[in-house]
Formats: sequence, C-alpha cells, structure tokens
Amino acid sequence: MGTLSGKTAVVTGSTSGIGLAYARAFASAGANVVINGFGTPADIEKERSAIEKDFGVKAVYSPADMSKPAEIAGMVELGEKTFGSVDILVNNAGIQFVSPVEEFPLEKWDAIIAINLSSAFHSIRAAVPGMKKRGWGRIINTASAHSLVASPFKSAYVAAKHGIAGLTKTVALELATHKITANCISPGYVWTPLVEKQIPDTMKTRGLTKEQVINDVMLDAQPTKEFVTVEQVAALALFLCGDDAAQITGANLSIDGGWTAA
Ligand code: NAD
Repeated sequence: MGTLSGKTAVVTGSTSGIGLAYARAFASAGANVVINGFGTPADIEKERSAIEKDFGVKAVYSPADMSKPAEIAGMVELGEKTFGSVDILVNNAGIQFVSPVEEFPLEKWDAIIAINLSSAFHSIRAAVPGMKKRGWGRIINTASAHSLVASPFKSAYVAAKHGIAGLTKTVALELATHKITANCISPGYVWTPLVEKQIPDTMKTRGLTKEQVINDVMLDAQPTKEFVTVEQVAALALFLCGDDAAQITGANLSIDGGWTAA
C-alpha cells in the first residue's frame, strides 16, 4: 500500500517531460492517474501501459486540449467517473514561444495565456467541488522561475507564469479551511523537450551557437550550472501530497539551482 493508495491524480501535459515524471511518481506511491497531453497514439499508449505495469495502478488517458475549457472540464469528469474522485490536480501543460514583444505573434500570445494560465483556472474550477465534498485535496501548479523573475523575449510566458503564481495564492486562501492545499513549483531550467525546442529560436534571436545558448543563456542564470532533473521536480510534488506538507499552502517553491536567489 503506497501513501497515495485510493487516491486519483490528474496531471495535465503528462505525455512528456516534467508531467510524465509527476504521473510516474504519484503512481509509484499507489495513486491511479489520468494522463493528458499530445503525442502519437502509440507513444501515449506506451507511457500509459508502462505506468500500469510498473506500479500496479490504473492509468487512463484524456486527450483534452488545454486551450479548450469544455475539454478541461471533461478531463476532470473522466477522472471522477473512472476512479470516483480527483484528489490531486497538477496543472503542468505548457508551451513556450520566444520573440521580441513588438513582433510577438498574436496567436502565440493567446495560446500561451490559454494553455499556461487559463487552463489551470478551468481545471481547478472543475475539481474543487469534489475535493471540498471529500475534505481533502492537493492542487499543484507548475509555475517557473519565470513566475518570480523575467527574461527578455518571453513576454507571454512570463506573464502567464506570474499569473499562475497569483492564481495559486488566491485558491490557497479560499480553500485553506478545507484541507485542500494549493502550491506552485517553480523550476529553473529542466532538461526536457520544451527546453530543447527553444534552443533554435534563441540561437536565431540572440545570434548564438547551440553551446552558447546552453552555457551562456540557460545555465548562466542557474548558479549551480546544472540542469534540474524531472525526477527532482516530481519528488517535490510527491512531498506536497503527503501529510507532512499539510501546512504548506499558497507557497511558490523554487527548485532552480539558486537562479532566483541572485
Ligand atoms: P514538455 O514540452 O516536455 O511537456 C509539455 C506537455 O504539455 C506535453 O505533454 C504536451 O503534450 C503538453 N501540452 C502542450 N500543449 C498542450 C495542450 N494544448 N493541451 C494539452 N497538453 C498540452 O515540457 P516540460 O518542460 O515538461 O514543461 C512542463 C511544464 O513545466 C510547463 O508548464 C513549463 O512551462 C514548466 N517549466 C518547464 C521548465 C523547463 O526548464 N523544462 C522550467 C520551468 C517550468
């Protein structure tokens, strides 16, 4: 019996990167999981069945698009209908786009605000009634060091991440007496497909080589000079789900190799 046996976790954007590590960490503690995100059906099925096989829990896949409010509500409903509850909600899906503000494509701004910020509002709105009824819940939002500090050329991302930090604090206050905590985890640079994909754009925008982007832009901000791992981020999320974390709420927890200390 794991510490999360009988509980259900919904993790948005869990077909890849940090989200997949969260889903696997919750499953390792005995939770059933709803995974979500994009990918080929074969890749998604591989991850879903591996979670069931590796940890002896149930995993279902929701194809909900985090830019579509009705689909987000449907994802929470899928968890409640399949497993009887949604006890842990992790808002993690996210995209990035790098551009000077005056050239920032309008549709990229709208997509980043929708996927990185508004989706968390929609899923929280859908999951809170069940959490309140059962008197227990954990809401974890993947924010970023960019919820605390800015970098040039990431106007939409930084705005969305600052927004999610504010949403988290508000929800924490509203739910404080219901044994439901709401926190954000703010990683620095974690080596995932999201980071890898922004290297070519940053090379172009700043006129740098790949090595210069990695060492002089990314790890330059991170005093430890090391990438954070997805497993380290997932371990923090797992801690937040335990009884020892019952009084941690409304917090913005940095896991950034010292970035935001500077
Ligand atoms: P990733 O690209 O590996 O994963 C992103 C996930 O979101 C994927 O599963 C993808 O399919 C999903 N996704 C994207 N658009 C979606 C949509 N419209 N609907 C549903 N799912 C969608 O990225 P990652 O690095 O694991 O990032 C996860 C979260 O962590 C993001 O919110 C990101 O901003 C945040 N973050 C990442 C880093 C980092 O360095 N990697 C640092 C700080 C914060």
